[in-house]
Amino acid sequence: MKIVVLKFGGTSVGSIERIKKVAQIIATYKKRRYKIIVVSSAMSGTTNDLIKKSQKLSTNFDQAEYDTLLASGEQISCALIAGRLNDLGYKSRSWLSWQIPIVTDGPHKAARIDNINKKKILKFINSGGIPVVTGFQGINNNSRITTLGRGGSDVSAIMIAKFFNAEECIIYTDVDGVYTTDPKNYKKAKKISKISYDEMLEMASLGAKVMQPTSVQDAKLNNISFIVKSSFVKKSGTLITNTKRMFSDQIITGITATKNDSKVTIVGVKDRPGVAASIFKPLSLNNINVDMVVQNISLNGKETDLTFTIKSDDIKKTKKLIKLNKKISFRKLNCDNNVSKVSIIGVGMITTPGITYRMFQALAAKKINIMVISTSEIKISVLISNRFIKKAVAVLHKEFKLN
Ligand code: ADP
Ligand code: ASP
Ligand code: MG
Repeated sequence: MKIVVLKFGGTSVGSIERIKKVAQIIATYKKRRYKIIVVSSAMSGTTNDLIKKSQKLSTNFDQAEYDTLLASGEQISCALIAGRLNDLGYKSRSWLSWQIPIVTDGPHKAARIDNINKKKILKFINSGGIPVVTGFQGINNNSRITTLGRGGSDVSAIMIAKFFNAEECIIYTDVDGVYTTDPKNYKKAKKISKISYDEMLEMASLGAKVMQPTSVQDAKLNNISFIVKSSFVKKSGTLITNTKRMFSDQIITGITATKNDSKVTIVGVKDRPGVAASIFKPLSLNNINVDMVVQNISLNGKETDLTFTIKSDDIKKTKKLIKLNKKISFRKLNCDNNVSKVSIIGVGMITTPGITYRMFQALAAKKINIMVISTSEIKISVLISNRFIKKAVAVLHKEFKLN
């Protein structure tokens, strides 16, 4: 019998009605004689509520307690699903990650799955049971509960598929697949039937929330193909796999936009060797991830301006670190939270010249100013004012014939 991993996201289990629907979906696999492992996220809104509670109690809430608190959301949804399956006459129970155990490494809030003990789950499946496993969480070597980062149930599903050698892994969510751009923000977005790990990874990392980036990386590393589909409507989804090109005439596969980037400009920095390193060292020591960087060529050989982007959450800390940095001198520090990184992604770029030009030209025609640019083999990102996100996505969608 084939093992299938079925993962349900927050909106898929967001209400009692939704949980009934999810139990029905699971039952269809049981009727087809699959061995099933269910993975669930918390009911939508739950994790955010728990975060707010912790913030009301402390600005520096203990990290281990934070993970213990946040992981509780998945306990609720899994118990409800298992309870419903029981009610429908199926043998099922919830499995919290420590009961399995799913062992993690690394820091709280961003742990990584190191090992999954298969014994108890296999025994339960082989006795005809449907295990409902809590996503997003694990247990570390100090017996503390850990979490895998926001959206981390995707990681749980992929890693369970890996350890159990599952034949299929299906990510059920509130959209019926991966689209050329977020279908909730752009009505003309088109569903992609098949996409490569590399393109999905870029899309996820550059703002397509539909999959958590780490989970796609894990899928790629372990060659775990998976399907993203809807738990709301019965439609075919998107296959994410080790594919080469799908559409020979399509250069760009997807377009993304980020919501929480900030731009920092240090004006009039004394230009000498090592200055960039002096600026970025304290940021790196404080786990602040610097993304796009541009340094102007100094006109007088003495001073230059340095611009970079970071996550908006890090802006306060970054400002403080720069102001306290004795190793640099500068005239002014400017910060801008109203920016967004818009990216075009596609493996077709590798073999097609002129894509950069077409992107810039299309944006210029709409009078959208580009502040910073960064590129890789299969993506081009530009930083623009977030007032223009919709316009930029629309014009690029059209330019690269994704409509
Ligand atoms: P879940 O709760 O199931 O994990 P998420 O909210 O994390 O669901 O992810 C699904 C959402 O991702 C969709 O509602 C959609 O708005 C958003 N999304 C962003 N970019 C894309 C894209 N390119 N294709 C599909 N969905 C996308
Ligand atoms: N419940 C967690 C979150 O909201 C994990 C997930 O949804 O995948 O981040
Ligand atoms: Mg998600």
